[in-house]
Amino acid sequence: MSAQTKGEKVYRGIAVSAGVCRGKILVMHRARHFISRREVSDADIPAEIKRFEQSLNQTRKQISEVQRKVVQNMGVKEGDIFDAHLLMLEDRVLVDEVMKLIRDQKANADYAFHTVSERYIDALAGVDDEYLRERAADMHDLTARVLDNLLEVKDAFDLRHINEPCILVGHDLSPSVTAQLNKKFVLGFATDIGGQTSHTAILARSLDIPAVVGLLTISEELETGDYALLDGYNGTVIVNPTDQTLFEYGQLVKRKASLEEKLREITHQPAVTLDGKIIHLSANIEDQNDIEPVVSHGAEGVGLFRTEFLFINRESTPTEDEQYRVYREVAAALKPHPVIIRTLDLGGDKFASHLQLAKEMNPFLGWRAIRFCLAQPDLFRAQLRAILRASAEGNVQMMYPMISGLDELKQANAIVEKCREELRAEKIPFDEGLKVGAMIEIPSAALIANALAKHVKFFSIGTNDLIQYTLAADRTNEKVSHLYEPTHPAIIRLIKITVDAAHANGIWAGVCGEIAGDPVLTPLLIGLGIDELSAAPPVVPEVKYIIRRLKLDEARALAEFALNSESPSEIYARCQELARAAAPSLFEKS
Ligand code: PEP
Ligand code: MG
Repeated sequence: MSAQTKGEKVYRGIAVSAGVCRGKILVMHRARHFISRREVSDADIPAEIKRFEQSLNQTRKQISEVQRKVVQNMGVKEGDIFDAHLLMLEDRVLVDEVMKLIRDQKANADYAFHTVSERYIDALAGVDDEYLRERAADMHDLTARVLDNLLEVKDAFDLRHINEPCILVGHDLSPSVTAQLNKKFVLGFATDIGGQTSHTAILARSLDIPAVVGLLTISEELETGDYALLDGYNGTVIVNPTDQTLFEYGQLVKRKASLEEKLREITHQPAVTLDGKIIHLSANIEDQNDIEPVVSHGAEGVGLFRTEFLFINRESTPTEDEQYRVYREVAAALKPHPVIIRTLDLGGDKFASHLQLAKEMNPFLGWRAIRFCLAQPDLFRAQLRAILRASAEGNVQMMYPMISGLDELKQANAIVEKCREELRAEKIPFDEGLKVGAMIEIPSAALIANALAKHVKFFSIGTNDLIQYTLAADRTNEKVSHLYEPTHPAIIRLIKITVDAAHANGIWAGVCGEIAGDPVLTPLLIGLGIDELSAAPPVVPEVKYIIRRLKLDEARALAEFALNSESPSEIYARCQELARAAAPSLFEKS
């Protein structure tokens, strides 16, 4: 049922990218399927039938789950809509027909199911009875779901069709789709699933597009054309907002504008505490289009260049020269500030379709980042050479993602050394003093930081992954988002171990995970001894603002308290207390 026929309705989720927008909803429909007929051998027919049965089971579970949530959020009547879907799945005649086609004609399951269901849809759509005609739409939905499961399709929404401003609503948005969002037309987005530090959320912040995730069933409940207000500060989507709601949000937007004025005044001032401790405050970027936001938000260079986005959404791997041109452009534009280029971190929730990597059971624990690069020396070498060559044109540094132990680090360093030798022999210039660092984002690396520190020039703590791996809570899964706690004592202790190991070995330690951009946590990180923070460009001014209002003693006392506490919520509350006292205007969000 369309929300247009109802009054105001509020959906609550997880706020992942700040800002308020309002406009028409565009629901991203499920992927289109390209069905082709394949001949199945006699021996493979049982497996094909099993595949079909499994997809029906999976679909049944998904629909029951959606139904349960709709009943819970909207009522029994609305939930009944899904009864028709479930009944169709149980329809023996339909199921038998599909099986017969697989058996008799040796057809693949997707082709067989699609053929039979299309016949049903045509028959239903043609009858002179409104109720039955509506069932054709149900059958259509159902067919799409079963085919999604059979073909393991995640998303294939074509953003090129968007040509007027809208709020995108969908079940999920992959990082590769998010990376293509055009701010001119996409005012904000809302999804059923997702977490605070998924790469989709990170990209939304980077693009400065308000976003709310973890809204459970919103993509099932809203329709294209519904009017809504999306609040990326508090994590709500308000459909059919009343005049009063619109007025209140108007006030909020005004308060934010006055804060922005204050932030503009300090944008190009140094990030220094009231008692003189200088923090290096830099920005996270995904490509060369982010150079301007880095400069305009007053960041001192780049603390994390996520190079994998140069590899995604294209037909082939970028060549050494192509990469060199991009790295050089960024380095030259931001000179003399440092640009820390992270070597390729594909895998996890970031995939390059042209590389056609096999599906894994646990992608975040699998063939990702440095593991993938060490196994693909040609691809790795091309990137390393490109980075080294770019270092001749600016202050380039590099770091490896997902280091888990000393051997991996030494192997990576040895390949870099070989690349240096090659370039010397080829008389290609590069910066002989280029600094190489390691990301600390796996608990094992934090625990042996003292050993790792002897082989690098800096550490950058990737808290997004460090939290997920330490607490065994998938960063993209809203169902475990309550466990994903940056102020868990285990995380604080691992950060402390890393910082102490760095300082004992005369190197610096920074944080480039999303907590580096959360002003509530800035005092804690500084109190723990962090030397550098790198955050999405739009949040850099807020972090700078609070640093400039902070006393080091107070930050240290907070860190001391956190290191002796056992309670994540208690630590978080103390962080909030100090942050609010230091910079009250930053927290007037609602
Ligand atoms: C991190 O894990 O904190 C990090 C900065 O890397 P990414 O978010 O790209 O995994
Ligand atoms: Mg990471």
